[in-house]
Amino acid sequence: METIIAASHNRHKITEIEAITALFGYRVISRDEAGLPRDEVEEDGSTFEENSYKKARVIMDMCGKPTIADDSGLMVDFLDGAPGVISARFAGEECDDAKNNAKLLALMDGVPAEERTAKFVSVITLLFPDGRKLTARGECPGHILTEQRGTGGFGYDPLFLPDGAELTFAQMGPEEKNRISHRARALAELRRQLEEMGE
Ligand code: IMP
Repeated sequence: METIIAASHNRHKITEIEAITALFGYRVISRDEAGLPRDEVEEDGSTFEENSYKKARVIMDMCGKPTIADDSGLMVDFLDGAPGVISARFAGEECDDAKNNAKLLALMDGVPAEERTAKFVSVITLLFPDGRKLTARGECPGHILTEQRGTGGFGYDPLFLPDGAELTFAQMGPEEKNRISHRARALAELRRQLEEMGE
């Protein structure tokens, strides 16, 4: 298997994708390591699938190599699925993880435990220069806490308690997150599809 280019600038995401795909024998390098221009791909789709495909397509057209993209986000039931595809910029274009988490906590203020259900979603697209396209979706259900717990991970990790876990994604080590996360589940499905293709 050739090297796969990851269509992301997000170091946390790339580290997770590298760690998980290494378990099944692939070498993933980031678009920056591949020396590609740093231009942002505009994420203007209304679904994770559209944005994931767009990111993979733009980067594969630049480098001509197999390219993997993740589009992901948090969907909170009480907020009718928000922040969803705009998870990265929930608190505005100039926001960061701290502002996004603060906005989420404010919107969930006073909401009882049983109504704090949510899920993380990851849609992974793998494109090959010969036109083959694989898409895999992974979801991880859980709850939004009333305060942040833990300092690891990224994004909404300190507020997300996965179902069946006692630690948030920000409290558990990377091995444990990479075993149960939405991204791990999408990559496991991708692996199944690759094996079916004989790759
Ligand atoms: P994307 O670059 O549009 O796919 O942005 C994904 C955004 O969703 C991130 O910036 C985070 O805010 C959130 N997100 C996705 N996956 C995770 C995760 O594993 N942990 C915490 N937040 C995540």
